Amino acid sequence: MKKSQAAVFLDRDGVINEDHAYVYKIQKFQFIPGVFEACRQFIRSGYQIIIITNQSGIARGFYSEDDFKRLTDWMCNQFKEQGVIITDVYYCPHHSSQGQDQYKVDCDCRKPKPGMIKQAETEHHINLKKSILIGDKLGDIKAGIAAGVGHNYLVKSGKPVINEISELADGIYDNLFGLSKSAVYPEALK
Ligand SMILES: [Mg+2]
Repeated sequence: MKKSQAAVFLDRDGVINEDHAYVYKIQKFQFIPGVFEACRQFIRSGYQIIIITNQSGIARGFYSEDDFKRLTDWMCNQFKEQGVIITDVYYCPHHSSQGQDQYKVDCDCRKPKPGMIKQAETEHHINLKKSILIGDKLGDIKAGIAAGVGHNYLVKSGKPVINEISELADGIYDNLFGLSKSAVYPEALK
């Protein structure tokens, strides 16, 4: 199977929506301005969009997988109404120390581990070298690097940037819209 598809891997909280911590209700899900336009630009440039998100709120018992899936369905519909097809959404419901019952797992999927990205690579025949990861935390960037994603960018989302991130990230932007308007990302397809 040839792996010609390039993807933009997006973290969710702090990249797509304002990070109000453990968001699981539609009323609390606030899209960051410019996200739809940025995603339309990525798609026009030939990328698929795949969301990869740590959801330890499930492990901690703050909300259920059904709550998460309900919100995800709604979110994907909002994208669709704005002309953006989300290829897939991967989430990690685990936490190695704070998890309850079956969710207390030292898994391979929770970022900074690369499990979700590797799963997407297999399931959607993604060429990771040509792909881009965009996150707002060190763990996102580390996951991208560990998986072999070619370009790993940070969006600040109003937070200060720690030194370790500036050393690891290939670029730092104010938000997704700013990144989509920059000249860097189409280079990934070459
Ligand atoms: Mg985040």
